[in-house]
Amino acid sequence: MITSPRQMKVIQHSVETLTSALVSGRQDLAKLYSKYTKEERRLLEYGFHQGSPGSLFQPITVHSDSDWIPAHPEEPQDFESFYRDPYRKTPNASQNTIYIQTIGSFGETGVQTDEYVEWLREYCQAFFYGLSVKLLPVVSVAETRCSFRVNSNSHNLQILTGDLLQFLGNRKPKDAFCIVGITMIDLYPKDSWNFVFGQASLSMGMGVFSFARYDDNFYTRNYAGRLKKQLRLKQGDYSVFEGYYTPPITSTLLLRSCKTMTHEIGHMFGIKHCQWLNCVMQGSNHLEESDRRPLDFCPICLRKLQVSISFNIAERYKALLHWMEQDPSPAARPGGASACQSAPLFPKPTEAFHTSKLWLCRCLDILEKR
Ligand SMILES: [Zn+2]
Ligand SMILES: [Zn+2]
Repeated sequence: MITSPRQMKVIQHSVETLTSALVSGRQDLAKLYSKYTKEERRLLEYGFHQGSPGSLFQPITVHSDSDWIPAHPEEPQDFESFYRDPYRKTPNASQNTIYIQTIGSFGETGVQTDEYVEWLREYCQAFFYGLSVKLLPVVSVAETRCSFRVNSNSHNLQILTGDLLQFLGNRKPKDAFCIVGITMIDLYPKDSWNFVFGQASLSMGMGVFSFARYDDNFYTRNYAGRLKKQLRLKQGDYSVFEGYYTPPITSTLLLRSCKTMTHEIGHMFGIKHCQWLNCVMQGSNHLEESDRRPLDFCPICLRKLQVSISFNIAERYKALLHWMEQDPSPAARPGGASACQSAPLFPKPTEAFHTSKLWLCRCLDILEKR
């Protein structure tokens, strides 16, 4: 590690370290790597020139001891150790669908919830290019029969992750590569814990994640999800969830949701936290660190995903760019304006994706020698 003038630590790996993390010294894996086109290899090796002007990939920076890497020392996972991991999961012809189960509402109306989770579905389908991503019908919190409580510090409603995982396990379709539960209600894993962003069982191919704390107001006094202190809850009476506060749908919330979903689904393939370069697979301990992560993979994690799904790298980037550029106005949708007259559509807020959009264009320039 070297210290930059701003006192943050920059994790700068040598070209040799990054080469062996990406390509591997094993002959068969080096041979597999040589099957990438010249342009693809050029893009992947941009990672070796991290931080130089115009570089597509930046080194990881550690801003404080509460960041993930100092707080959770982990063994770094290079491409070779990923490839050799007997527990990693690869989609196959009979299990190649990612299922998303929405629990409770996103936004103020059912239509808004449907619209929001459809944006997430489309984003995941572009990100895990080649797999199909399907939505299971939205369920209310009551339908999961989960335990719940009011957090004694933040006074917001929380639901128990273990119960939700059990619920998901019972609903997991046979062709599922994995099933991911998402909710805007805050989560807790056990009574003694304050909260958890999510919990997953990689061996069972399922996980549940909450976006409640991605609300800009969550940690402020004006957070509208706070309940009155004297409120008494009765287990089994889910009426308290009816009309309960959900964060406003903003571009930042959508960006954070997309990041969390893809990071967590990335783990389902056996991809561990990235310690090589700035990457969506970096661990994050708090919101500021999570916001610092880029939206996409570094070259090393990209290769891990690519061998798992066998997509064409340029095609995947094009699909992601298309999702960001899609005209959100109802009139631009084929049949959209007339078919949905009674149900107002909400435009997809993609402003927060602007930097990622430019980045994708630059990647495609390299891949297509534009
Ligand atoms: Zn993680
Ligand atoms: Zn990475």
